[in-house]
Amino acid sequence: MRAQPTASHYIDGAYVDDTTGDSFDSLYGYTGETIATLHDATPDLIDRALASAARAQVAWAALPGVERGRVLRRAADIMRERNRELSELETLDTGKPLQETLVADATSGADALEYFGGIAASIGGEHVQLGDDFFYTRREPLGVCVGIGAWNYPIQIACWKAAPALACGNAMVFKPSETTPLSALKLAEILTEAGAPPGLFNVVQGRGAVGAALIDDPRTAKVSLTGSVPTGRKVYASAAEGMRHVTMELGGKSPILIFDDADLDAAVSGAINGNFYSSGQICSNGTRVFVQRDLLDPFLTRLSERLNGVVMGDPLDETTNFGPMTTERQMQIVLDYIEKAKAEGARLIAGGARADRDGWFIAPTVFADVTDDMTIAQEEIFGPVMSVLTFDTEAEAVTRANATPFGLSAGVFTRDLARGHRVAARLQAGTAWINTYNLTPVEMPFGGVKMSGIGRENSREAIAHWTQVKSVYVGAGTVEAPY
Ligand code: NAD
Repeated sequence: MRAQPTASHYIDGAYVDDTTGDSFDSLYGYTGETIATLHDATPDLIDRALASAARAQVAWAALPGVERGRVLRRAADIMRERNRELSELETLDTGKPLQETLVADATSGADALEYFGGIAASIGGEHVQLGDDFFYTRREPLGVCVGIGAWNYPIQIACWKAAPALACGNAMVFKPSETTPLSALKLAEILTEAGAPPGLFNVVQGRGAVGAALIDDPRTAKVSLTGSVPTGRKVYASAAEGMRHVTMELGGKSPILIFDDADLDAAVSGAINGNFYSSGQICSNGTRVFVQRDLLDPFLTRLSERLNGVVMGDPLDETTNFGPMTTERQMQIVLDYIEKAKAEGARLIAGGARADRDGWFIAPTVFADVTDDMTIAQEEIFGPVMSVLTFDTEAEAVTRANATPFGLSAGVFTRDLARGHRVAARLQAGTAWINTYNLTPVEMPFGGVKMSGIGRENSREAIAHWTQVKSVYVGAGTVEAPY
């Protein structure tokens, strides 16, 4: 089985086949087969990508916003037309079931292209009168921007960065994760077909060192990273050297608070979506599920029943709703956390081991009686492991939910809406959901607080992170001077 792209890189409007750099493989988690072999970008290729982006950006920024937007909206249409092919590629690259990729990956990327395509024509500043004088502000592009992706939502991440960046008049060099490198190349192809000028969106492949070289280049004005906190620290530090703008979309250990008046099935659904979708490989997952004491037993009983509906199998079969881990290494990391949880005294309710079948599957795993100090309650696992903790009072639940260095997301399930809003306000998170979980429409800002990140993606908020403000003061009277 091969999903080999035409070449590793996409630079200046065309595929570039350069095999000088070290090679790496993309593997399919269901069979362990190599589906593509790619090569690290060499310094020469990195230079070519940045140079072509710098060239393209000037003319692109000079276009009226409505023309930039038209290209993005055309790209959205092409992406939707090619959704099945893109979804199958994403399934091979990530191992995620086609049932998911058909509705959550290229489609959410297309939403971003359409949304920011629509907004491009109305990006602007403000005018303020100061007597006869006045000033106005211009929202200007940053220039050449670098996007660096994680491996869980490859084409969505590429679109969430490219769409607002290009709408604002920037050009981009994107480095996908070396684990899931393929679909970003398709985005580049689609943007070209939609009318993007050569060099506007380039893709270079490689491991961390390629990302680091892009950030260190003086032509780079901004870096937007989706990745882990340790990588975020390094990227933020090297961006600081060059005083470059940053957006950091990092990891989490998000809480879901389930009060005893909650709709039990809705809460169970939220916990399932927030722990087992994409086999748990989602940054915003609510992996600390705090359940109010009286609801604990009904919650665990209903959750166990619902887990009978898990269909593990061939990710390309649309009836499969639970796929393998994306890499063997990630599977091992998750299995180590499961063993640690057992050793630290958590009570295993479901799963708890590698599934007895081929492929890098871990059965959906639930631990109860988890305490705040256990490793699985503190560290991001990035796999299908739910920790259930018990609480008595609202104040206690909020305090414990906030006792983490992360702050990406949070959820609250209750029929008491006043409590829902009160708790949402107190939870330290970039996004809080009330009576639902993990919905991230493009219209809504997304990002983290505390160690989970800096800046926001999606929505009108993103415009502020892909532009800089110039103030233009206009004097209308005489110019006073002391001498
Ligand atoms: P990772 O941090 O290992 O890698 C992310 C990217 O950074 C990769 O492309 C990698 O090659 C690159 N990289 C590594 N070292 C670098 C360096 N020194 N300089 C520049 N680039 C470097 O993350 P991952 O394992 O691919 O993804 C999982 C992580 O991503 C999890 O922590 C998850 O929570 C997070 N994530 C966050 C969001 C979000 O929106 N907040 C979304 C998805 C994933």
